[in-house]
Amino acid sequence: MATLFISDLHLHAERPGGIEQFLHFMRTDARAASALYILGDLFEAWIGDDDTDPGHAPVIAALAELRRKNVPCYFMHGNRDFLIGKRFAAATGCVLLDDWHVVEIAGQQAVLTHGDLLCTDDTPYQELRAMVREPAWQREFLAKPLDERRAIAAGLRERSKTETAAKPAEIMDVNQAAVEAALQRHGVSILLHGHTHRPAVHEFVMDSAPATRIVLGDWYDTGSVLRWGGSGFALETLAQL
Ligand code: MN
Repeated sequence: MATLFISDLHLHAERPGGIEQFLHFMRTDARAASALYILGDLFEAWIGDDDTDPGHAPVIAALAELRRKNVPCYFMHGNRDFLIGKRFAAATGCVLLDDWHVVEIAGQQAVLTHGDLLCTDDTPYQELRAMVREPAWQREFLAKPLDERRAIAAGLRERSKTETAAKPAEIMDVNQAAVEAALQRHGVSILLHGHTHRPAVHEFVMDSAPATRIVLGDWYDTGSVLRWGGSGFALETLAQL
């Protein structure tokens, strides 16, 4: 049995194909897994656990069903769904993880992160991230009516789209020094993340020892999954439905 890792599904009601792909994955691959890790951006947007978005209900139900089948599920926040909270955890049975989290899979240790913390060259983004991760900002945001929250979130996404279009591509990729610092800090040689939507396995040498950075892909066209079992890991693209 393998442990599965996914991220950057960006599920929302306006893209039903993505939700279908996820529900199919949950009924098949996920059910046969020893555990499922979701490394953020499961949803395109999350403005609070009290949101009534019709796209969320089937996703929550599928996660709860996986829990009933005794497959543990772990969730780490992404930059789109960092407001997922205790009510979501209770409804789905997902365990919320801190960003950074060290796991041991088949005798190998790896540090998990959504990935945006590694994009240290993007200073304006890191400033915005620091603001919206402040407990005081979140309390104030969550106290607003849903309509107002929806409008603020749409504004932030619009701003991010405009800024992203104006930034050179390398600014929005991870910073290699940040990658190596994270590996050192956690005393591991494998780092696994999503966020950049640039699926790949990067092998490099750090302190004269081999190190690996695995990047999960997004689910825009079809699913991207890291399957990690006794015989090692494989970064896979799911067949289109
Ligand atoms: Mn992201």
